[in-house]
Amino acid sequence: MLKQKLEKAINKQINAELWSAYLYLSMSAYFESMNLCGFANWMRVQAQEEVGHAMRFYNHVVERRGRVTVSAISAPPTTWKSPIHAFDEAFKHEQKVTGMIDELATMAAAEKDHATASMLKWFIDEQVEEELSTDTIVQKLKMIGTNTGGLYMLDHELGERKAK
Ligand code: MG
Repeated sequence: MLKQKLEKAINKQINAELWSAYLYLSMSAYFESMNLCGFANWMRVQAQEEVGHAMRFYNHVVERRGRVTVSAISAPPTTWKSPIHAFDEAFKHEQKVTGMIDELATMAAAEKDHATASMLKWFIDEQVEEELSTDTIVQKLKMIGTNTGGLYMLDHELGERKAK
């Protein structure tokens, strides 16, 4: 059985993962409006992954005989100053999510909930990847600067990303 304290915290995390999906979908729409279809594709895949994250938590609650309660998802921003601004915000957001996952892991350890701790291991590893992938794009955009050719090349590269 899932302890109430963890059930509440995981339900909150389900909402946070769905908010992440909403944020990246909003970023995808922003890139579509700029005709940066590769960037838009990358963000669309990212949004899908976030729904997958929410479902991993959802399944854990259900499998532990807990109760999932969904709550309102607040509106994310809809526009950014530039592609680098959007990706910088994505990187900052992922750092925040890492903090949330760490808090959950700390709580699971304190409550001696080894099953939740084991489930969270996947997320701990995933966050390393999430921070790395968003920061790598920030760094590439920094390198590109105002070079339109470079931006087009990166757009092409990001267009290759496929849903896992
Ligand atoms: Mg996530």
